[in-house]
Amino acid sequence: MPLIISGIKMPLDANKDSVFSKALKIASLKERNIRKIEIYKTSVDARNRDNIMLVYSVFVELYDSDIEKKICNRNKFASYCENFEFSPLLKKGNENKKVAVIGFGPAGMFSALVLAENGIKPIVIERGEPIEKRVSSVDAFMNGGVFSESSNIQFGEGGAGTFSDGKLTSRIKDKLCRYVLEQFVEFGAPKEILTKAKAHIGTDNLRRIVKAMRERILSLGGEIYFETKLEDFTLKNGRINEIKTSRFSMQVDDVILAVGHSARDTFELLVRKNIILEPKPFSVGVRIEHRQSDVDISLYGNQADNPLLPKGEYQLSKRNKYGRGVYTFCMCPGGYVVPAQSEEKTVVTNGMSEYSRNGDNANSAIVVSVTPKDFGSKPLDGVSFQRDIESRAYKLADEDYSAPATTVEGFLSGNPSIESDIKGTYPRGLKAVELRNLFPKIVTNMLEIGFDDFSKKMKCFGNGKALLTAPETRTSSPVRITRTDGFYSLNCENLFPCGEGAGYAGGIMSAAVDGIKVAVQIIEN
Ligand SMILES: Cc1cc2nc3c(=O)[nH]c(=O)nc-3n(C[C@H](O)[C@H](O)[C@H](O)COP(=O)(O)OP(=O)(O)OC[C@H]3O[C@@H](n4cnc5c(N)ncnc54)[C@H](O)[C@@H]3O)c2cc1C
Repeated sequence: MPLIISGIKMPLDANKDSVFSKALKIASLKERNIRKIEIYKTSVDARNRDNIMLVYSVFVELYDSDIEKKICNRNKFASYCENFEFSPLLKKGNENKKVAVIGFGPAGMFSALVLAENGIKPIVIERGEPIEKRVSSVDAFMNGGVFSESSNIQFGEGGAGTFSDGKLTSRIKDKLCRYVLEQFVEFGAPKEILTKAKAHIGTDNLRRIVKAMRERILSLGGEIYFETKLEDFTLKNGRINEIKTSRFSMQVDDVILAVGHSARDTFELLVRKNIILEPKPFSVGVRIEHRQSDVDISLYGNQADNPLLPKGEYQLSKRNKYGRGVYTFCMCPGGYVVPAQSEEKTVVTNGMSEYSRNGDNANSAIVVSVTPKDFGSKPLDGVSFQRDIESRAYKLADEDYSAPATTVEGFLSGNPSIESDIKGTYPRGLKAVELRNLFPKIVTNMLEIGFDDFSKKMKCFGNGKALLTAPETRTSSPVRITRTDGFYSLNCENLFPCGEGAGYAGGIMSAAVDGIKVAVQIIEN
């Protein structure tokens, strides 16, 4: 089995050959032993700003498996490379199953793809528009036009992450992650995502990739219905036998429900149908904007302008003595703050970047964890909590889709102001608002703790002129559609809740992996 040699620290300008020879030296290998060698992952080690290094791991295949074994046992830098090949060689005989996939975000796209590649032709139902039309609707709203409840930054082909930085990092350690990366490359993502520890695709690439995935699914016989919403279904003996969409009804064998964390009307439908779902913790807070150059200086010191370094990224967190966390989330280097609501007369913020991450500002959410103890234990209490903040934000910011905002010093002093030399990127404009009127005290208290702690960890967080835009409420799903080990709902055996909306994923990568697992389960059953 191939090996991974890791912990290879190199100067920023090291070339590939010097990385490979250091890897061989570390593992006491000779060139003649090597069948194949390639860069596996790279990351930046900027802990010592006077000597910033790149840390490589290298994939090595040897001619002799005994030597591989010896090295793996003796060398602390060497480990076996887990077999990441995913070849869905699945049971035959299920090809005529009628599987409806509701939602065409990462979870729905990957489940539909795997089904289609295995001969089951999925029927995809997506409430939003195809990507070409969706981009026009989102752009029109950003430029002052009307808001569409069916096609926006949450809803439409590609799902919630299409207008994002496209970060592909995930806490899940699953060999399918590698498969997802390879699929993204096959559908047009830059090859570098395979070797970057913190890979990202950018909204520009994602828009092309989702279209390529759609075309592949269609070419395999899948059907995709855009601007079509799941509105109802009928149950018989603990199974769904018919789904009703805004355009047609159809009999089904299985339903993959990959509707994302913002499908509030669909969650309501599930409650009406007595499908078991429970409230789950999530986080709410604000988005902060710094100049990207200030972030780079904070992280890289006098190397900040070095073109060999990636745009600076950070991740910070702090807990109070009761265990409540405040943390940065979904940071977008060189990105833009975007309006990410899915309901009229509400305001929600989030962030996106192009692959180049070339914007002047960096933005990141700073959010505080909230649990059913804060908002209530009924299934949809978390949704009401989010909605309340979002509609209050709309009212506080003069009901024109501008966002409540203030500088950090304005927030801390209680005198909100948007006077700053940092130019906010939120496209619908900002209104100076006292954020204590927007969030419960538990949230604003924790934000204060966060600003204090983060300013000790990163210089740019000491800048009182950094801009806060609010509210960030759609960090993860407020519900879990509880399922069994077989991936189907606790009380509906052909309903497969999937991805972020089901509460079983958090982010593009884990939603895609969950989609694959659910598809495999359906194919194998
Ligand atoms: C602006 C923004 C930036 C983000 N940045 C990142 C990032 O950089 N990295 C990252 O990992 N994650 C990011 N995320 C989160 C990420 O997008 C989600 O975790 C991921 O998209 C979840 O995938 P999903 O398939 O489970 O759900 P979604 O992507 O939400 O897809 C669900 C789909 O279902 C459709 N739908 C809903 N209800 C119905 C219905 N009743 N009938 C038919 N269709 C329906 C929706 O229109 C939607 O297209 C970001 C999210 C946003 C909003």
